[in-house]
Amino acid sequence: MPMVRFPRQLIDGYRAFLGGRLRGEQDRYRELAQAGQSPQVMVISCCDSRCAPETIFNARPGELFVARNISGLVPPYTPDGATRAVSASLEFAVQALKVKHIVVLGHAQCGGIRAFVEESKPLSPGDFIGHWMSLIEPAAKAVGPRGNMPLDEYLTKLEQASVVATLDNLMTFPWLKTLVEQGKLALHAAYFGVAAGRLFVRDQASGQFVQIAADEHAEIFAAPRF
Ligand SMILES: [Zn+2]
Repeated sequence: MPMVRFPRQLIDGYRAFLGGRLRGEQDRYRELAQAGQSPQVMVISCCDSRCAPETIFNARPGELFVARNISGLVPPYTPDGATRAVSASLEFAVQALKVKHIVVLGHAQCGGIRAFVEESKPLSPGDFIGHWMSLIEPAAKAVGPRGNMPLDEYLTKLEQASVVATLDNLMTFPWLKTLVEQGKLALHAAYFGVAAGRLFVRDQASGQFVQIAADEHAEIFAAPRF
């Protein structure tokens, strides 16, 4: 096996963490190590390197329980004895940690959704992405045919519909559904617009994704940068 070096970027990043966040949050890390974690919020999101929930929500250690996969999807409840990463994460978050909220976070320019739309060729004979992305077929049906819609607009619609379909899939887990119906667990759909950093949350009544903290966002973008 060739000699490998741990990436320089990660060593530098860790050094910055030592001098920055760890210095400020040493006590919190110690407390969490002793008492264990008790996050109130689980986030299910895409692996995409631009959409880290801890960054977007400015989370401290112990605050978010995060499960990430391509496009942030949840396969429907299938107790078949197979090794199921998302189901195991959900089971732990809901049954052991007893989180109060699950946020499904979609995002703009999602490569997984785009691969589905463009019917991209498999990257490997196993076509893991192709099989995984077939999970968004119900969302594509809900959006309807693209017709003359510009690609960007269609992708946004599908990215958002996929988040909503994921909430439907969450409700196929019987123990999760019971808690939602009892008002002990709330499900939320959110969407991150990468380019401008806008965050949208789905309004339950209207079904529309509504930008949150829009005024603060506008102010930041209006301010001169230098
Ligand atoms: Zn993505």
